[in-house]
Amino acid sequence: MKCGIIGLPNTGKSTFFNLISNSKALSENFPFCTIEPNYGITKVPDPRLSQISQIIQPIKIIPSQIKIVDIAGLIKGSHKGDGLGNQFLSQIRETNIIIHMIRLFKDISVLHVEGSINPIRDKEIIDMELQLKDLETIDNRLEKITKKNKIDESISILKKVSSFLKEGKNIRMYPFKNHEKKHINNLNLLTIKPVIYVCNVDEKLSLNDNSHIKNIKKIAKMENSIFIVLSLKKDRYGIDKVIKNAYKLLNLQSFFTIGKKEVRSWSIPNPCTAIEAASVIHTDLKKGFIKAEIIHYNDFIKYRSEEKVKKSGKIFLAGKNYLIQDGDIIHFRFYR
Ligand code: GDP
Repeated sequence: MKCGIIGLPNTGKSTFFNLISNSKALSENFPFCTIEPNYGITKVPDPRLSQISQIIQPIKIIPSQIKIVDIAGLIKGSHKGDGLGNQFLSQIRETNIIIHMIRLFKDISVLHVEGSINPIRDKEIIDMELQLKDLETIDNRLEKITKKNKIDESISILKKVSSFLKEGKNIRMYPFKNHEKKHINNLNLLTIKPVIYVCNVDEKLSLNDNSHIKNIKKIAKMENSIFIVLSLKKDRYGIDKVIKNAYKLLNLQSFFTIGKKEVRSWSIPNPCTAIEAASVIHTDLKKGFIKAEIIHYNDFIKYRSEEKVKKSGKIFLAGKNYLIQDGDIIHFRFYR
């Protein structure tokens, strides 16, 4: 599961990447500073992990992580290959969700490729590049199916999606009926990927007093997408919010394992059964699975020790098909 950071050059993508990841991207006041994508992992902030650790006082605390990719600046014409655009677009294809960075900080010493602050225009430039790439993908597919002379129900849905794109809309907004989605799933389209819009505002401004923000927020809302305003130069809280939202959007949830040596958060898909969760830790746990001992997070915080939870009857044994609840504390019992 991977999360890609995209946007026009000089919007703060590499700065953001560097703030959240374990590896360093070159961040410079120069539009094509990033060419190769930068891969990194980021810790997922989770106050529950600290709450549990305060009680257990383990030697080590290990949070969940997500993979992130800093993808170079797209510009007008990227879909045709301008500014190495095609390469960047195929990097976006590999990601599951997108963080779309939009510039609101002024700083005249940092070049804006379009010459002025205008977040809606900038968002539309990026959107259009991705839409044009999707159109190309769909047209190629249509050509192939039509050549084979197949009467295929794909054709009608592909044509509908293509017209939708031509209206300048992202496919994630298309009102798919249940059976329709399967016809485009294998195309790995770009504008269907879930997105978080992040507005990077001027460190000198407050996060709200700006008509640009109101306008772009409206658009994000219409798209039903997540919208976060932050100032990369001064705001750790906003950054954490982006990561937490990315985790949810990737459809991930966490369970915890606890012990004196280590308290650890594990990422699992949502939904996830107990046996699937066991296999995330080790295949042996899956092979030898007997039962999962479960404590719900709130019960642990209420009773503040495993023994007290046990005494109050709040610990229970679950079979392999139990659906994990976000935050469950689990001990797996298994044959060695
Ligand atoms: P990218 O091209 O989108 O990856 O942008 P970078 O993260 O490399 O940033 C480009 C330049 O803008 C660097 O000199 C950053 O220090 C600067 N920059 C990024 N975010 C901000 C911000 O919020 N305020 C100001 N003043 N400068 C910023």
